[in-house]
Amino acid sequence: MSGNVRVVEVRGCRIGGAELVVMAGPCAVESRAQIFEAARVVADSGASFLRGGAFKVRTAPTAFQGLGWDGWKLLREAADSQGLLTVSEILVETQIEPARDYIDLAQVGSRNMQNPPLLKALGRSGMPVMLKRGFGCTIDEWIHAAEYILDEGNPNVMLCERGIRTFETATRFTLDVAAVPIARSRLGVPVIVDPSHAAGQREWVDCLTLSSVAGGADGLLIETHPNPAEARSDGPQAVPLSEFPELMDRVRAVAEAVGRSVPAGALQAATLHV
Ligand code: PEP
Ligand code: MN
Repeated sequence: MSGNVRVVEVRGCRIGGAELVVMAGPCAVESRAQIFEAARVVADSGASFLRGGAFKVRTAPTAFQGLGWDGWKLLREAADSQGLLTVSEILVETQIEPARDYIDLAQVGSRNMQNPPLLKALGRSGMPVMLKRGFGCTIDEWIHAAEYILDEGNPNVMLCERGIRTFETATRFTLDVAAVPIARSRLGVPVIVDPSHAAGQREWVDCLTLSSVAGGADGLLIETHPNPAEARSDGPQAVPLSEFPELMDRVRAVAEAVGRSVPAGALQAATLHV
């Protein structure tokens, strides 16, 4: 890490310090079995947060929209079973207060980055917020969006680069790695990278993940699923849970090369003691 970045603390987990924070789980919570299995594997691999959408923003209204409140309840239970924190997207202002029972870190989705009423309400709430970059927005616009939250007196803000739309079609979005150090030093808050939505296909997630760690990301938001072929959203970009521990080993190696650490999970610890 470099420069002066404010450390954001989410229930004792420090983001923006020497430790790289990993947030992982499925795109959407789909069932008890799916989310509990995801929680077990990501916790065992050293992740600190379980991700999982319950209110999904889908391009088409006919696509799976998430399990709603039942999804948040399952996410909380699964995370608690492994001592994980939760991160999930909050879509509208009315969800903020009830979300406190289920969500430790409120995600603002790419499509909602320029929604000042939501941003201001999250600012007033004081909840930790991870603001995703709008896929058609510049770094300046992204920073101004974050200021809507900060200016309401909420310092618990981090950014998330998740890829922007360019002329390139080989990936779903183009990961703007340069935005990580630039936004980080301009706003002085931690920057997380979501390699999954940028890649669009699991084949490229590994490379984008490692590049982000080398580029100074303070954390990662990665989609992983017990059975990607059956996922109800974003299956093609989900890393199978069976491959997640290995990805984390690679993250750990790059993190160490750039002076950061990743908490050891039970899987790594077990390997070390063999
Ligand atoms: C997500 O994290 O599942 C998501 C919908 O991301 P984005 O808002 O970046 O598209
Ligand atoms: Mn997704």
